[in-house]
Amino acid sequence: MNIVIVGTQWGDEGKGKVIDILSEKVDVVVRYQGGNNAGHTVVVDGAEYIFHLIPSGILHKGKVCCIGNGVVVDPEVLLQEIAGLERAGIRPARRLKISDLAHLILPYHRILDQLREMKRTHKIGTTNRGIGPCYADKINRCGIRMVDLLNSRVFADKLKDNLREKNEIFRKVYGHPGFDFNKIYRQYMGYAAKLSGYVCNTALLLDEAVNRGKDILFEGAQGTFLDIDFGTYPFVTSSSTVSGGAAVGTGVSPDKIDKVIGVAKAYTTRVGEGPFPTEFPARFGTFMRDKGSEFGATTGRPRRCGWFDSVMVREAVMINGITDLAVMKLDILDGLKSIKICVAYKYKGKVFREFPHDASVINGAVPVYKEVPGWRGAVAGVAKFNGLPANARSYISRLQDLLGTKMSIISVGCARKDTIFL
Ligand code: GDP
Repeated sequence: MNIVIVGTQWGDEGKGKVIDILSEKVDVVVRYQGGNNAGHTVVVDGAEYIFHLIPSGILHKGKVCCIGNGVVVDPEVLLQEIAGLERAGIRPARRLKISDLAHLILPYHRILDQLREMKRTHKIGTTNRGIGPCYADKINRCGIRMVDLLNSRVFADKLKDNLREKNEIFRKVYGHPGFDFNKIYRQYMGYAAKLSGYVCNTALLLDEAVNRGKDILFEGAQGTFLDIDFGTYPFVTSSSTVSGGAAVGTGVSPDKIDKVIGVAKAYTTRVGEGPFPTEFPARFGTFMRDKGSEFGATTGRPRRCGWFDSVMVREAVMINGITDLAVMKLDILDGLKSIKICVAYKYKGKVFREFPHDASVINGAVPVYKEVPGWRGAVAGVAKFNGLPANARSYISRLQDLLGTKMSIISVGCARKDTIFL
């Protein structure tokens, strides 16, 4: 079975844990979009692993892990991640495959990301890793891909072309001295030597896997509301985070995808700027952030926290074709007297049951809440749905009714064992 894992909110839903659990049951794991602006945290036997580029499936012996063509790769970060795994005794050498069509992040992408964000009056909250500018070059047809890196002549030509135009922009628009060809060329030829063994036609490799009846897990990063089309634009990431992105970002055709699992936190969080209708008031927000350890895996930035928003997640169910939902971090709601679920928005006297696309509506939206009683005691360690406190069960059932989709996984703690399968 070929399964896509997708975030239904603004990322950080806990996809890492779901991916880690499901990786055990599949043969190949493939990342399909994003770059090292994403971060999955996986806890195995008390040890914490943070992944930015390499699928966390690498922690499972024998699994092949691919970085698909839809991903943008910062070679330096990738090499650091490979070195980190080797230090932990995991050898990715024969199991890690990088698409030859994946685009490369270059030093000018990172700097441009920072300079553009600095100049913006309305910051979009970029991670400054060069992801957006790299995707922009891809669309502008001046990007440099892995396959180009492996051909020194092609790489030199493309780099020269880029620097000719970019250095002028850097100097004239940003007052930045620009970049030296030789320095980047030497640095990247060093990366080429180290990475060449991993690079291949991953679309072909995945097609062969499909034909041999192997199971593939498509690993999404970020979440539906950070999608370049369907997210809260412009406070979004530069790639297609939705399930459709899995086909485009890997070369596996959509008809080979059997199932889409959406991952939602039992509440909502968001990093960076942008609208957030159900955001908690400041003091309660700080309390819940500490309770849920809501700090970014990639940047350490504090996450904004709020109530579960069924308007958003219902939209995510539709856009992604979600067949199964995983609800994460239910334990963080332990001990609350009551819990709110957003069922609609109100704006200027009008009720919105579908997610509005007009920025002024989302910014001014007042959530309409259903309030349900909380539960006493801890849900961590509970292995069966019936073992949950009655109010926790009815909270989950309420979400299921509102979303109209099946709940397959309820996560009640960060460890693999703290998981209820339905
Ligand atoms: P991702 O980007 O969607 O994979 O999310 P992150 O990895 O940034 O965030 C998930 C964080 O929550 C990690 O630190 C996980 O160990 C942790 N986590 C996942 N599921 C649960 C859960 O059910 N309860 C608690 N307390 N922590 C969880």
